[in-house]
Amino acid sequence: MKILTDLHTHTNTSDHGFSTLLENATQANKKGLQAIALTNHGPAIEDGTHRWHYGNMIQLPRVIENVTVIRGMEANILNSTGKLDYDEMDSTDQAGIELLIASCHGGVYQPSSTDEFLELYTNLCKRDDIHILGHLCRYQCTSHLDKIIPLANSKGILIELNALSYKDKRYHENNIRLIDACLKYNAQVCINTDTHFCYDIGDLNGMDKYLEEINFPQELVMNRDLPTLLDYFKLEL
Ligand SMILES: [Zn+2]
Ligand SMILES: [Zn+2]
Repeated sequence: MKILTDLHTHTNTSDHGFSTLLENATQANKKGLQAIALTNHGPAIEDGTHRWHYGNMIQLPRVIENVTVIRGMEANILNSTGKLDYDEMDSTDQAGIELLIASCHGGVYQPSSTDEFLELYTNLCKRDDIHILGHLCRYQCTSHLDKIIPLANSKGILIELNALSYKDKRYHENNIRLIDACLKYNAQVCINTDTHFCYDIGDLNGMDKYLEEINFPQELVMNRDLPTLLDYFKLEL
């Protein structure tokens, strides 16, 4: 399975990211990718990216090193109502963002029970500005995936299959459960690296092999190429 875009990449605007956008784009080009999304951590995480970064993304070239760059943000979920740190930015900063990922991160907020997990993701799916639910596999999430996955898809929100979590032993099992549930519900997904260092761009850490093993349909992967992605989200770059 070859995925030609990577919609979850970080740069060194957070101290725990180690590459520049140019380095990420250069690696993406070497790996044959058509596009990457620049999705740095929102301001609520301890070393989050300053809100001005997002508004100023309009300065970026659309294509860097032959790779289309989509301007995004990995927003932090703040509580079970589905409030994001994105919501606390002013509209000029929000206006630079074309692709919004909503994720939970330790140190900011994580649901404390499976019921709260369901409440949170039900609330997130009521919003109409989120494109992707980031790394759902990092929690005790298996109880309610049967509700969350179809609900998200009915709103046009993609479930992320996250290669960084796939290689992390703590989350691997949940990741398998998430992938299996997506297959069961024929869910539309995106497959991303969540890279924090440029060499990891386009490297799915064996998750691609697992997807092939279980015959996960390529047509459910909405970031398999740039035209498919743009059409799915009705994005005009
Ligand atoms: Zn990070
Ligand atoms: Zn991330």
